[in-house]
Amino acid sequence: MTTSRKDHKILLSESEMPTQWYNIVPDLAAPPPPALHPGTKEPAGPADFEPLFPLALILQEVSMERYIDIPDEVLDIYRMWRPSPLYRAHRLEKALDTPARIYYKYEGVSPAGSHKPNTAVAQAYYNKQEGVKKLTTETGAGQWGSALAFACALFDMECEVWQVRSSYDQKPYRKALIETFGGVVHPSPSDLTEAGRAILQANPASPGSLGIAISEAVEVAAPLPEVRYALGSVLNHVLLHQTIIGEEVLLQLAKVEETPDVLVGCVGGGSNFGGLSFPFMREKMAGTMNPRITAVEPSACPSLTKGLYTYDFGDAAGMTPLMKMHTLGHDFVPDPIHAGGLRYHGMSPLLSHIYELGMLDAVAINQNECFDAGVQFARTEGIVPAPEPTHAIAGTIREALDAKEEGEERVIVTALCGHGLLDLTAYDRYFAGEMNDSAYPEERVQEAMTRIPAV
Ligand SMILES: *Cc1c(COP(=O)(O)O)cnc(C)c1O
Repeated sequence: MTTSRKDHKILLSESEMPTQWYNIVPDLAAPPPPALHPGTKEPAGPADFEPLFPLALILQEVSMERYIDIPDEVLDIYRMWRPSPLYRAHRLEKALDTPARIYYKYEGVSPAGSHKPNTAVAQAYYNKQEGVKKLTTETGAGQWGSALAFACALFDMECEVWQVRSSYDQKPYRKALIETFGGVVHPSPSDLTEAGRAILQANPASPGSLGIAISEAVEVAAPLPEVRYALGSVLNHVLLHQTIIGEEVLLQLAKVEETPDVLVGCVGGGSNFGGLSFPFMREKMAGTMNPRITAVEPSACPSLTKGLYTYDFGDAAGMTPLMKMHTLGHDFVPDPIHAGGLRYHGMSPLLSHIYELGMLDAVAINQNECFDAGVQFARTEGIVPAPEPTHAIAGTIREALDAKEEGEERVIVTALCGHGLLDLTAYDRYFAGEMNDSAYPEERVQEAMTRIPAV
């Protein structure tokens, strides 16, 4: 049986699933700047990360190997839902009346409904290997919390999650899902940590932020030897684990003899975007294809397009090492937009560096245009997207309409990194006309930027 461009789904068999993650770092023209110790401001060494992460992940964080074997146990779990389908969006193309061909990689088929289990399973595995009994973490919209709770359940570990207050209130079913997988959830800021209590004292109604929730989870994990912290995005090892997405897409596009003209993805901390795009950047560097690569972020939290490229903390309280990245200021609290997974003040340092090298471009899109796109996508393709990938879809639709204007058969590839079936309150608000357009809050950003530490 052959696969053709006329098909809707381009599938790989389990035996075709890639068995290595791709590390882009050794292929880059310049190495990414190191993380710095928050006190001495000297480059941070493995010992600085040991209270938080297992050694295997610290080594992946700084690895110069181009490929890293995916452990058999992890591959075996991946096979519960991977390889994930690549779809041709025939009905969306028709609705847009575009000559473009649109393909989307669907990660919503995972047990937690997003791409996050690709790294959650790997992180739980390496922690388990090193004797860790419990993982703490933050979650924005709840996708990372549910992915890590799922992974911990498979490895018989405990999981404690600080969920950003605004999502905790808006998305009660994410909490129920985390609890179903055996995790424990607290709203953040909470009164369980010093970081949380300090924020609550200053503002008892704080909607929370990913930066605050990270401070809380780190504070609990750091002093306890059998407890480690897991981050769902931003770090090199997380982006590494997500490269299985792009590796699969390369194989899937080869089956229908397509090469992309443009890749579009949404960026919060950069993990699904890095996962999709890094294998294509490798091909581009090798000269086998030449796609444009575009990241879409929310106007309410535009770290790539408006942030400073400088050293800043990864969390609100300033406990993490300093990382050189695009940042809006570590204690900037974005408006409570529905795309909770994109409400992070910073950006992956690796993706930030790659942006500085000129290997991608970025745009910021307002919340209403994203939901317009999400609804059009649901009404044509049948899948309700999570609020985060509505940004990728809005970017894709802009490309498809531009291709129509130019009369071009543009091949557009995007990542639909999660479904929105637990985000229907957001759609409800949209239909009720109660969604603010979340423009760029310039004054608050300028103010938060004054507190970025000098290095
Ligand atoms: C977490 C999440 C994001 C944002 O994180 P990235 O690291 O930028 O991918 C985007 N989409 C979904 C569905 C998520 O769960």
